Amino acid sequence: MDEFMEEMNRIVNCKYCGRPTLYGELTWLNGKCMCPRCYKKEREKEDGDDNRRDTQMARQSLPG
Ligand SMILES: [Zn+2]
Repeated sequence: MDEFMEEMNRIVNCKYCGRPTLYGELTWLNGKCMCPRCYKKEREKEDGDDNRRDTQMARQSLPG
């Protein structure tokens, strides 16, 4: 268990932004291992189309 905790608290550099990140904070997305910042960016990229659609729908429901 201690070894596991040590592994989680090891600092590694994110492959994508190069920032030092706790190993335990790395997240897998689409087969890639990235820090929370890059994960958020990737998710925003993926959700971008949906957000645009929502905005369009919101605009259509407005009067005028
Ligand atoms: Zn990163």
